[in-house]
Amino acid sequence: MSKSDQLFEQACQTIPGGVNSPVRAFNGVGGTPRFIERADGAYLYDVDGQSYVDYIGSWGPMLLGHNHPTIKAAVIAAVEKGLSYGAPTEIEVLMAQKVRELVPSMEQVRMVNSGTEATMSAIRLARGYTGRDKIVKFEGCYHGHADSLLVKAGSGALTLGQPNSPGVPADFAKHTLTCVFNNLDSVREAFNQYGSEIACIIVEPVAGNMNCIPPLPGFLQGLRAICDEFGALLILDEVMTGFRVALGGAQAHYGIDPDLTTLGKIIGAGMPVGAFGGKKKVMQHIAPTGPVYQAGTLSGNPVAMAAGLAMLDLLQAPGLHQQLAEKTAAVAEGLKAAAARHGIPLAITYVGGMFGFFFTEETEISRFEQVTRCDMERFKRFYHLMLEEGIYLAPSAYEAGFLSLAHGEREIAHTLAAADRSFAKLAQA
Ligand code: PMP
Repeated sequence: MSKSDQLFEQACQTIPGGVNSPVRAFNGVGGTPRFIERADGAYLYDVDGQSYVDYIGSWGPMLLGHNHPTIKAAVIAAVEKGLSYGAPTEIEVLMAQKVRELVPSMEQVRMVNSGTEATMSAIRLARGYTGRDKIVKFEGCYHGHADSLLVKAGSGALTLGQPNSPGVPADFAKHTLTCVFNNLDSVREAFNQYGSEIACIIVEPVAGNMNCIPPLPGFLQGLRAICDEFGALLILDEVMTGFRVALGGAQAHYGIDPDLTTLGKIIGAGMPVGAFGGKKKVMQHIAPTGPVYQAGTLSGNPVAMAAGLAMLDLLQAPGLHQQLAEKTAAVAEGLKAAAARHGIPLAITYVGGMFGFFFTEETEISRFEQVTRCDMERFKRFYHLMLEEGIYLAPSAYEAGFLSLAHGEREIAHTLAAADRSFAKLAQA
């Protein structure tokens, strides 16, 4: 029995499912999760001494690879000065200024401790600002686990939300309208029926929680126009895409000016950080300047801010996002070519530092229901073949893959050689 197996058995006694976040449990692929001991650069090292090229990057934050010396030094220096004060600090001002510099639509910023808090607070603000209760989200988009946002799609654009988790009161969920990603007609239909009651649209500008689905040309612009027409706010949830798709996030990449933006992951460099922000006239409605309440004991924590600010400073190096995009394209196109060599139908998507691959005959992927039609059994087999080869992919066919700047030629060549052998085995099955 491996040490991971032993630890998982123990973990399941005292932690539900053995994990502190569900997808880590390998429910999507079967088998026992690897317990990780340490990470460095592009690699994870497990408790059994195996190393893996990491394509999860702690689900997004590790854009510069693990254990980056500059970030580590910034954290250690901050720790020397005490862990938390519960009072304002200079580094929070520097962080807010940096976010505004990199993401100009975020004229004012409030720091929180996770992506979930960021989206939950942004929704409350949008509701408080507009005086409206309903929100629009998209089938297959994930915005954290706040009640209003844990609502799955019904079968049509106008389907009133149903809670997809017990514990979410139907009275909350009915205010969440679920539309079809990349389908403006579904959004227009929702607004035609409920327009005067809709506070906001929240969207992942590149959907990364249903594998990886980029927006079709005009989709995000269309959302902006519909919001303007009906007096609703546009919230771009850039928890995943922020600083990854481009330095200025997906809004810079696609040229969209949202009212509010949510951030997480990279902004904390691996520490628990999220942020929401946007137009000053809207942000002024947050307490203490305004009546919409939002707070946090550890928000703007000095150690977390030191990590995040060091990360954002490093990301401003010229050409860095171009390099990241090239590495990502090399992996995605390499996977596609390797699959083709063995006659395995595979579609790929990629934008900036995120990518997706789909076991399907379809070549263009733009809709959630295409993802649900993919060959999940093939994905599971591929996942485990790659894991045996020392490649650590997301253990779910509904998650995007992430590269870091620490992924070099060696790691990419190893990945593609492993993929070639894995596709060959899939083709024999
Ligand atoms: N929004 C998006 C787009 C996300 O991908 C996630 C997490 N994967 C969240 C919000 C929630 O962030 P957190 O897990 O930090 O609460």
